[in-house]
Amino acid sequence: MTIKTWTRLLADEGETLALGEKLAQGCGGPAVIFLHGDLGAGKTTLSRGFIRALGHAGKVKSPTYTLVEPYQLPPWQVYHFDLYRLADPEELEYMGIRDYFTDDSLCLVEWPERGFGILPPPDLEITLSYQGMQRRALLEACSPAGVALLEKVKA
Ligand code: ADP
Ligand code: MG
Repeated sequence: MTIKTWTRLLADEGETLALGEKLAQGCGGPAVIFLHGDLGAGKTTLSRGFIRALGHAGKVKSPTYTLVEPYQLPPWQVYHFDLYRLADPEELEYMGIRDYFTDDSLCLVEWPERGFGILPPPDLEITLSYQGMQRRALLEACSPAGVALLEKVKA
């Protein structure tokens, strides 16, 4: 269910990082953000901007092999998922997926389509696509919290 959408051009990597930062700053409650897009579209870059904005100073590595990378960033618990290598959504059940979606968690999910049917519904879906050498971001709010977040990012 999409309530509200917004698109913008991301001219370079810095603008992708900045969008991630704005999203992080706009989170006023728990949030589930799905990140769609081809390999190299900028999902991990956006996640890096998001995670750094919340105070993480170290590396933000792509959780391609671990499926999820946790970051304890008070007051938030951030979980960065990359489900590219998930063979079957059922695997998420074995991971205890529900424990990750709590009242103080911000969840970023790359390749959420691989977890279809098991993942909770998102507040915001972001689709990154190639626009020549640049990128385009489509943001779709799917819940009241997602609409609030979208409004803050647009401001
Ligand atoms: P994904 O996680 O979607 O596979 P990554 O974030 O790992 O993608 O890689 C994206 C690549 O594109 C990086 O090399 C990054 O520097 C570059 N990039 C990110 N945002 C932009 C942008 N707005 N314009 C051009 N290049 C970008
Ligand atoms: Mg990635």
